[in-house]
Amino acid sequence: MKEMQRDLVVLGGGPGGYTAAFRAADLGRSVTLIEESEVLGGVCLNVGCIPSKTLLHLAETIADAEELSGAGVTFAKPTLDLDKIRAHKESVVGTLTNGLAHLCKTRKIERITGTGTFLGDDRLEVKRADETVSITFKDLIIAVGSRPVRIPGIPYEDARIWDSTTALALPSVPKRMLIIGGGIIGLEMAAVYHALGSEITIVEMTDSIIPPADRDLKQPLLKRIKKLYAGIHTSTKVTSVEAKQEHLVVHLEGAKAPKSIEADVVLVAVGRKVNTDRIGIEHTTIALSERKWIITDAKMRTNVAHVFAIGDVTGDPMLAHRAVHQGKVAAEVSCGHPSAFTPMGIPSVAYTRPEVAWIGLTEQEAKEKNIPFTKGAFPWQASGRALSAMATEGVSKALFDPETGRLLGAGITGKNAGELISEAMLALEMGALAEDIALTIHPHPTLSETFAVAAELAQGTATDLMNS
Ligand code: NAD
Repeated sequence: MKEMQRDLVVLGGGPGGYTAAFRAADLGRSVTLIEESEVLGGVCLNVGCIPSKTLLHLAETIADAEELSGAGVTFAKPTLDLDKIRAHKESVVGTLTNGLAHLCKTRKIERITGTGTFLGDDRLEVKRADETVSITFKDLIIAVGSRPVRIPGIPYEDARIWDSTTALALPSVPKRMLIIGGGIIGLEMAAVYHALGSEITIVEMTDSIIPPADRDLKQPLLKRIKKLYAGIHTSTKVTSVEAKQEHLVVHLEGAKAPKSIEADVVLVAVGRKVNTDRIGIEHTTIALSERKWIITDAKMRTNVAHVFAIGDVTGDPMLAHRAVHQGKVAAEVSCGHPSAFTPMGIPSVAYTRPEVAWIGLTEQEAKEKNIPFTKGAFPWQASGRALSAMATEGVSKALFDPETGRLLGAGITGKNAGELISEAMLALEMGALAEDIALTIHPHPTLSETFAVAAELAQGTATDLMNS
C-alpha cells in the first residue's frame, strides 16, 4: 500500500469539512481534504438544504400565485415540467459545487477522492477507485456527517419507499404520499410535494409536529396544513408497511389513527444518525457517547489531542450552520489560535409555509426547567406589512429574563421567518435587553418590526396592541 505523510487532514467535504479545510489553508496549514464523492458540499449542498430550498421556492411561488386570487389576481393553474425542474435544481447545486472546487484549488488544498477509514489514532487508509493509500497525519478533523435513520418494518428495497435523498431527486409526483415523521424534513417535503400536486398524509410519533418548537409558533403552520393535507396523525406509530402490487399499505398504531392507510409513496423522515460506524473509529481510542456521537470539548478536540470532530458527527442539532462554525473553530485551534465554540444559541428554521424559526430558550424548555421569563408575543394579524403582503399567518415572540431584561430566546413564525430570526440571534449573542430591541428603530412597514413590538409588549410600552 502506498504510504503518505500529511500535515492536516480533513475527513469529509460537507459544509463543516470544507469550511475547516479552507480556514486552515488560509491560516497557513498544508491541508488534505478527503471526500468520497467527486463533488464537495456533502448532504447540505447536494441532497439537503440547497436542493430542498430550490424546490421550496417553487412551492412557495405556486402557493403565492394561488392565494393572489383572493386579492383579485388569478393565474392559470401551473403546468409542471419535471425534467426542467430537476435541471434547474441541478444547475443551482452545480453552480455551488463548482464554486467550492474552484475555492479549494485556489487555496492549493490537496483533494483526495476516496473513502477514509482509521487504522489507528494517527493513520488512515483511503480507498480510491484505482488504489488504496495509507496516510499518516499530524492533525485530523473528522467531518463525516450523518445519514437518514431507518426504522424497522419497512420494505426499503421497494422503489416506492423514499428517504429525503430520493424525494429531492424528484423521481415522480405520487398521487398519495404518506410521510413518516413530522419533523423538519417531513414538513418541508410535504410542502414541496403538495405544491406539485400530491395528496399528503403525515404520521408523527409524538403528540405534535416539530417536537422541539413551541406550540404557539407551530400553530399558524398547523392550522394551514390541517386544511390542506389529507391527514396529520400525531401520537401515531407506523408498525409496518406492506408492499402490494398496486400500492403500499401503511399499518398504524394510535388512539385516534385509522388502522391502515394506502399510499403510492412512503417517505421516511424520522431523523438522522451519525456516520461514526463507517470510519473504523473502533481502531482508534476516540471516545464516543452512548448514541455513538463523537465527544469533543469547546475547542472541538476529541480526547485524542490531535484529532478534532465537527458537525453532525458530534450530535444534535445536526445543522449545517453549526458545522460551519465548529469547522472554523477546529481549524483555528489546530493552527494555535485561542478559539472556542461557545454560541449563545443555534437557530433552527423549518422552511415551511409559514416558516417556523426559533433560537435560544424555548417556552416549553423554560417551563420544564422552571426558568422564570417574561414574554412578548405579537400576532402578525396586527402588522400592516403582514396584512399588505397577505402574510398574516405568523407570530413574533421574545422571552426575557424578568430580573435583568436580557433576551433569553425568541421565535418567529411567518413569511421569511428564517431571515428575520437572525436579528434575534444577533440580539442574543450581544446580550441585548428588551429595551435595546424596543428602542432600535425598525423601518416601517416591515415584518422585522414585529420582533421589536414583541419586545415592547414584554416591556409594556407597545402602542400597536394593548399591553397585557
Ligand atoms: P427530525 O428529528 O427533525 O424529525 C423527525 C421526526 O420524526 C420527529 O418529529 C420524530 O418524533 C418523528 N419520528 C421518529 N420516529 C418515528 C416513527 N417511528 N414514526 C413516526 N414518527 C417518528 O428529523 P428529520 O426531519 O428527519 O431531519 C433530520 C435532521 O436534519 C434534523 O437534525 C434536522 O434539524 C436537519 N434538517 C434541517 C433542516 C433545516 O434546517 N431547515 C432541514 C432538513 C433537515
